[in-house]
Amino acid sequence: MSNSVLIYVIAGGAAVLILAILLISRGSGSGGAAAPRKGAGRACGNCKRTMLPTWPSCMFCGWAPGAKLDFIAGPMQGQSLQLTADVTTIGSVAGNTVVLADPAVSKKHAGIRKAEGGFELADFGSTNGVYVNGQKVPKKALVPGDIVRVGNTEAVFKLD
Ligand SMILES: [Zn+2]
Repeated sequence: MSNSVLIYVIAGGAAVLILAILLISRGSGSGGAAAPRKGAGRACGNCKRTMLPTWPSCMFCGWAPGAKLDFIAGPMQGQSLQLTADVTTIGSVAGNTVVLADPAVSKKHAGIRKAEGGFELADFGSTNGVYVNGQKVPKKALVPGDIVRVGNTEAVFKLD
């Protein structure tokens, strides 16, 4: 290997290095521009760190937002129910969390259970079924905005 070839190799290596540095610095620049996207997440109600929208609960401390049902039709229209219990039950007889005096509602009609990472609605084998967004479902993991219908009652599932 002659000395002149060696110089070309070193020069070529330096050029590649400079190019790499330029690419890395540009990469971090675009990363900075993406920072406002953090605002799309919500602040943890406990440790205040930013939670990504895909997290049902805080990855840092385990805090999870509370949930509620806003009744938009039926005898409980205009009322709101916080889903604080492990299981919230809906039916036509006393003993349920939500008692609906409605002939279309079974005695023990449906329930909403706090599950790992969210809330799950389940039909308890009711006569007339449980509908979410117009679809009859035996079971469904609720997402904010879901409209749950039992008999003549409709409620919107929301996170606090
Ligand atoms: Zn937290």
